[in-house]
Amino acid sequence: MHVTLHITTGCNLNCRYCYSPPTSRNDMSQQTAFQAIDFISENYPVNTGIIFFGGEPLLKKDLIRETIAYSHTKLRIRN
Ligand code: SF4
Repeated sequence: MHVTLHITTGCNLNCRYCYSPPTSRNDMSQQTAFQAIDFISENYPVNTGIIFFGGEPLLKKDLIRETIAYSHTKLRIRN
């Protein structure tokens, strides 16, 4: 199973074929991302992948790093 986190609608490109042109930017908060990890940890703790999606998700690379670190903490707590 995979869970996709849409962490931003923002993008630094302007592709003609864009499915979701970034006219405005909405970013996922750290609180929401961590709540998603809590939900995954409680409900799907085994063999679940997390996909970071946008927009351009690397605009939020700090949030990606923080969320991965938090998910490692949750796994350590469970084991
Ligand atoms: S979100 Fe994707 S398709 Fe849209 S402009 Fe950015 S890179 Fe291009």
